[in-house]
Amino acid sequence: MNHFFHLLTYSSDETEALIFAGVLFVCWNIENLAGLAVNYKKWNHAFLNVQFIITGVLPQFMMGLLFVKTMQWTGRHQFGLLYHLPYLKNPVVLFITAFILLDFGEYIYHVIMHKVNRLWMFHAVHHCDYVVDVSTTLREHPCENIIRNCFTLAWIFFSGALFWIVFLRQLIQITSNLLVHMNCRLPEKADAIVSTVFITPNVHQVHHHYQKPYTDCNYGDVLSIWDRMFGTFRKLPYEQIIFGVDLYMDKKTNGTYLSLMKMPFAKSRKPQKIDS
Ligand SMILES: [Zn+2]
Ligand SMILES: [Zn+2]
Repeated sequence: MNHFFHLLTYSSDETEALIFAGVLFVCWNIENLAGLAVNYKKWNHAFLNVQFIITGVLPQFMMGLLFVKTMQWTGRHQFGLLYHLPYLKNPVVLFITAFILLDFGEYIYHVIMHKVNRLWMFHAVHHCDYVVDVSTTLREHPCENIIRNCFTLAWIFFSGALFWIVFLRQLIQITSNLLVHMNCRLPEKADAIVSTVFITPNVHQVHHHYQKPYTDCNYGDVLSIWDRMFGTFRKLPYEQIIFGVDLYMDKKTNGTYLSLMKMPFAKSRKPQKIDS
């Protein structure tokens, strides 16, 4: 087991990237076989979203180094909430507790990104995709990438989470994020059961509806329990869901990489009509 963690410690970036690519490949092919009938050019759509990897890699790598340094410091000083909960000697209980804590942190982060106007302008780049499929997962403005990682860094610092916990949790998070953006849906009965605890594609698609109050619901990252607890859980039949953001429905603004890069720095807008 120690060897396993040692291996992960020194190959985390490569391992994460490989697992991400593997899950992305599987999801892409599941969409091809069982995706919802949506009239769009999948490769063109993916080509736009894939460009966000270029600007996302460097901040992600830099923040990854900061994560490791922070975890080394908290480990050396036994600093953080998890060090002060003596019943957490069992690694399984420790992992579940840390996972729940970190997932709650993601929920808070997501609510903040929607409620603070300046931050919402960055997050809207992800939301204004006019079709949600697995490549939408990649669509994140580099400034949001840095903001999100700063939140995670603070959470790691205060929780005192160990490297293997953060790493395993990141793998679950990456997989879950790809799955919930898939252009597929669970059968309603299965969704009713799974979404009691976890975010599903059906649940996250409601979050991508172009208008409030649906945009401001289903904030959960991996777990849906926070939305249920804080009254932000909503359902909407698939036939009524329109992907996008009412402020950015014109394909000129949300249709090219450069315009999406500039989008958060433009003046705030009023809701627009939907392009046909
Ligand atoms: Zn959101
Ligand atoms: Zn999303």
